[in-house]
Amino acid sequence: MITASPTSRLSPPSRGWREIWRESITDAGELLAAVGLAHRTDLLPPDDAGFPLRVPRGFVARMRQGDPADPLLLQVLPRALEHEAAEGYSVDAVGDMAARAGHGVLHKYDGRALLIASGSCAVNCRYCFRRHFPYAEEIAAAAQWREALAHVRADTSIREVILSGGDPLSLATHKLEELTEGLADLPQVIRLRIHTRLPVVLPERVDDAFTAWLADLPLQKVVVLHANHANEFDATVDAACARLRGAGATLLNQAVLLRGVNDEVGALAALGERAFAAGVLPYYLHQLDKVQGAAHYEVDDDRALWLMEALRARLPGYLVPRLVRELQGDPAKRPIADFAR
Ligand SMILES: *Cc1c(COP(=O)(O)O)cnc(C)c1O
Ligand code: SF4
Repeated sequence: MITASPTSRLSPPSRGWREIWRESITDAGELLAAVGLAHRTDLLPPDDAGFPLRVPRGFVARMRQGDPADPLLLQVLPRALEHEAAEGYSVDAVGDMAARAGHGVLHKYDGRALLIASGSCAVNCRYCFRRHFPYAEEIAAAAQWREALAHVRADTSIREVILSGGDPLSLATHKLEELTEGLADLPQVIRLRIHTRLPVVLPERVDDAFTAWLADLPLQKVVVLHANHANEFDATVDAACARLRGAGATLLNQAVLLRGVNDEVGALAALGERAFAAGVLPYYLHQLDKVQGAAHYEVDDDRALWLMEALRARLPGYLVPRLVRELQGDPAKRPIADFAR
């Protein structure tokens, strides 16, 4: 006779990434309790209908217990500081509205068209420009990617299609298939690049169907991850990265330089080393976009340049990211060393 044995509860059927995503923490009190800070009611944000809290539980599990300065917690916990106005900080910090070349298409740089694939992310990062951009109306995936595909088709100089967002991996794999089927008859497109934080914050997203889709693409593939601190990596992230590499993707990481999170040489060096251990090379270290509500994360350029110099003295050159800032109207991300200062 077969009965439910106690051990069957230890191996539940594996759950899909959407279900795990839906179980994210969205309440600041619950988040504080999960990291052993339930007593720190002073850290609770004021009531606020703005950019909501959202963080997957697997990411929360990588936070240190009882540490209000934990670098992962500081990226996602809303704070009263966000409501302080700061000079030079606005709602469209990088001119995205001006570069719009169609529904969800941003074409700022030669040879690369960036599609705002989706308005959602698995996590809401407090420093993000997305807190203000009206992405709900700007999604390239709408109407089977029609406008985005028309734009790419009409411009034979586009060699690389970049999926960004929001987070493109918040889309179902069949939506991504729709896009790559549409690209299949465009010989000028040789590369697909995906900018995503999901393999870090919700590594379950890199599931069998997604991995198979990626592996089968007849394109060069680049996945640019987004991790700001070494502690964001764990064995589940390593496994997701291994699957992405196994599917033929080159893995890069971009980070944002954030006060209190990674603005120490040791933290940046550890990030480079840890990413590389997962098979990921550092790409950009971004100076913060000046979006309203994020000023308390700012690291000034003098300190940023000093950090880079110290980092270069410490790491092999290939683990040193490029420090850049995005300025409206520039033909590329601007290296900060070249700044007129
Ligand atoms: C950042 C960005 C790119 C990619 O720039 P790379 O320097 O190639 O990483 C492309 N298009 C837009 C609109 C961008 O903002
Ligand atoms: S776009 Fe990137 S940085 Fe912004 S909230 Fe989404 S995952 Fe975070």
